[in-house]
Amino acid sequence: MKQFIVIGLGRFGSSVAKTLSEKGYDVLAIDRAESKVQEISNIVTHTVQVDATDENSLKTLGVSNFDVAIVSIGEDIHANILATLILKELGVKHVVVKAQDRLHGKVLSKVGADKIVYPERDMGTRIANNLISSNMLDYIEFAPDYSIIEIKATKKMDGNSLADLELRSKFGVNVMAIKTREGLEITPEAEKIIRMGDVLIVIGNNKSLEKLRRFSS
Ligand code: ADP
Repeated sequence: MKQFIVIGLGRFGSSVAKTLSEKGYDVLAIDRAESKVQEISNIVTHTVQVDATDENSLKTLGVSNFDVAIVSIGEDIHANILATLILKELGVKHVVVKAQDRLHGKVLSKVGADKIVYPERDMGTRIANNLISSNMLDYIEFAPDYSIIEIKATKKMDGNSLADLELRSKFGVNVMAIKTREGLEITPEAEKIIRMGDVLIVIGNNKSLEKLRRFSS
């Protein structure tokens, strides 16, 4: 079972820590503010009030024994970068860090961050995409320019098989799964008939997905 450290228990960090805990994982939650530590103390396994820029404190806590660390210090960029550097130097294998912007992200990758997340930017994009199109239900960008979307089958698609729709040749996208009233069908066959209201889970580059979205709306 993986063990996690979450550093910085603001809105993002505490939400990560709570979710991991609820899923049954061991979480060490750290913040320099006593009140933040108190708030979460009966939810996660271990809490410590400590300044994460203090290398000795982190060493004493045995951070190198943890598999993953999430640095979610927000406003204090200096502390955010320093904590990342210390965690990597102490040998934490996988360090995920919340960044404010691209430049901050660049610095973080230079100091060894393994994954950089931009929760506000990503959530903004996701919500905007959901707002634009009523039949686009969800959207996850998993690499620059590539996403997975959930799109509701419209009247145009109703009664056609995947082969008839030719989504791959027309739009350059792949249907990974289909949610129907009966349940989820993973890697559907070409003969699968689409019904209006089914939800297609489609992978592709953003331009192709946008073409599909326009076609089907
Ligand atoms: P959010 O936008 O997710 O709410 P914040 O920036 O408001 O993020 O919260 C970050 C948290 O990180 C705060 O609770 C703050 O006390 C904590 N924090 C800031 N600097 C340090 C540090 N050096 N060591 C440990 N925790 C810190």
